[in-house]
Amino acid sequence: MTRDWSRRRFLAAAAITPFAASCTSEIRAYDFEWLAFATTIRATLYCEQAKLARAVFIALKQDFANINKAWYAWGDGELAKVNRSLFQTGESEVSRPLANVLVTARRLADRSSRHFSAALGPVIKLWQFDRFDINEPPVAPPGASELKNALTIANGEFQVSVPPTGKATITAPRGAMIDIGGIAKGAALKVGIETLQHFGIEGAIIDAGGDVATLAGDHPQDYRVGILSPRGRGVDEAVRILPGEHIMTSGDYARYWTLDGKRYQHIINPATGWPATGAMSATVIDKDPLLADATATALIVGGTQNFSTLCDAMQVQAARLVDNNGIVSMTSSFRSRLDT
Ligand code: ADP
Ligand code: MG
Repeated sequence: MTRDWSRRRFLAAAAITPFAASCTSEIRAYDFEWLAFATTIRATLYCEQAKLARAVFIALKQDFANINKAWYAWGDGELAKVNRSLFQTGESEVSRPLANVLVTARRLADRSSRHFSAALGPVIKLWQFDRFDINEPPVAPPGASELKNALTIANGEFQVSVPPTGKATITAPRGAMIDIGGIAKGAALKVGIETLQHFGIEGAIIDAGGDVATLAGDHPQDYRVGILSPRGRGVDEAVRILPGEHIMTSGDYARYWTLDGKRYQHIINPATGWPATGAMSATVIDKDPLLADATATALIVGGTQNFSTLCDAMQVQAARLVDNNGIVSMTSSFRSRLDT
């Protein structure tokens, strides 16, 4: 029996190559790099003053640090506390920012016919993908009956109530655990883009470990993004994205372990409770980063068979999928963005 854990948990799924096609003499590109979401964040901010760029970088860094803590299901931030409360009582208060993300997650789960689900916590825990650092001894797949129980709770879903004033609340079956890992980077990038807008940044591209957001500012740039091969062969394809569009990639290659030569990855098929086997890599471009993020995750579950149906159901135009044999499918909207 061979068991080896991948340490390549957070490898970027894409590499970015921003370049300024229409730089005026005053607008400059300022590059920043820091760690968040256990990955390297790279941001290029376009503005006139180095001082402003620096201030925005500090604000962005703070945004991501706050979100990293608050929306991580397994730490000691807000969502982890909500999960502890759900586990014990089946209900919890939730802050408005988190409640809004949960409402979106719930809506997208419904739209995806539950290929995407933010309620998979009990199943993810059983597979031990809740571990921040995969340095501990590997596990065998969970037993059938414990998996069935966890899946029953996960399929019970959750309800969020956001009244006009006062605290929002969440209710769920007892034992439920919310995990918004499938949408967290998209949600964080949305907050980051709002911060850039608030500061009046002219253009920007942020790469959060392969999930890339751009700003539709007053001096939009020409943004090119490389999509990495899911089997480590460098950049597969490059696309041009418009300012204000975001490109999110999910894959079976960033976080997984192997057992007896079989790959068990962190994206779970909500229908079976087993790691998804639909595809190796999925990329979605959209103006809504949460929609793009959720859809990329859902497409990994659905695979080639459900590619068109899921794109239609999720209401995304530009998507690309690499199946388990390396065969690529893409929508015509995605094809039109290829940087050939
Ligand atoms: P990454 O965040 O690594 O770029 P994804 O956006 O695809 O990749 O999110 C994967 C994470 O989402 C998993 O680590 C897990 O926390 C959670 N997850 C697993 N399966 C699903 C699913 N079917 N739907 C929604 N979230 C999922
Ligand atoms: Mg995702």
